[in-house]
Amino acid sequence: MMPGCSGDIDGISILVGTARCNANCRECAGRQHRKSAPQKDGELDIARLTQVLRFCHARNCHYVTLTGCGEPTLSPVSLTMVLETIRQFTLDGIKFDPVNLYTNGIRIGTDAEFCDKFLPQWHWLGLTSVYVSTYSDNPSLNADAFRVNAYPSFGIIFTRLKDYGLKVRASVILKNGYTDTPEKFQALSERFFRMGVDNVTAWPLKDEDDSISPLAPSPSVLTVINEYAKTSNGRIRVLLGDSRTKESLARKIALFQNGEISDVWCARK
Ligand code: SF4
Repeated sequence: MMPGCSGDIDGISILVGTARCNANCRECAGRQHRKSAPQKDGELDIARLTQVLRFCHARNCHYVTLTGCGEPTLSPVSLTMVLETIRQFTLDGIKFDPVNLYTNGIRIGTDAEFCDKFLPQWHWLGLTSVYVSTYSDNPSLNADAFRVNAYPSFGIIFTRLKDYGLKVRASVILKNGYTDTPEKFQALSERFFRMGVDNVTAWPLKDEDDSISPLAPSPSVLTVINEYAKTSNGRIRVLLGDSRTKESLARKIALFQNGEISDVWCARK
């Protein structure tokens, strides 16, 4: 049933929702998995999800990441169904913690009605943190990277999430032309912390085979960024490609929308 999973598992990434995205990144990590995504929000195999969560719990899995091959907030019905399933485990005495959601932040920053309707509900169902993926702390540069007309204000995105009791982690994609020097990364981190962000994670842009992209900053720049992160008392984490050994990958698995399991893909999100 599950490949390469004889030992413990630390966490599971669950791909949720349709293939739709409100951005169009040049190096989209999800594009290769879009054919396995459902056509409609709300199409979800709850029995398979429950089976895989049970399997993970039996292997001491403690955290859940909700992500997608598109933008998960565009599939709020599916996301709610997944969170309700996780909540049922909590009611049965099995707690997955933390439960994190990845998003590009665009819908959160532009759709107040959506936030009012879903964020309190998701928090109540057990969502712990929201990881806002970003290329830069400059909204114009971010719009360029996401290939959208405009990227919303970070202040609005972070405030809406914090107002509903959610923790916020900025997930920074290090790419040349955007956040590509230690100085820019330090300025971004300090600015985001002042705006209420709890944590920052950064990782170099990856290619489809999970190797570091030639469009990512050089290894020497990444080293300095990592040194800076080490001074942050754990608030900043840098995920360098070479720290991801096969062994560490095997401790995380991903569940795709078609019910398949992988122990490789989750390194990218
Ligand atoms: S926001 Fe994520 S899913 Fe959307 S295009 Fe960018 S990488 Fe792909």
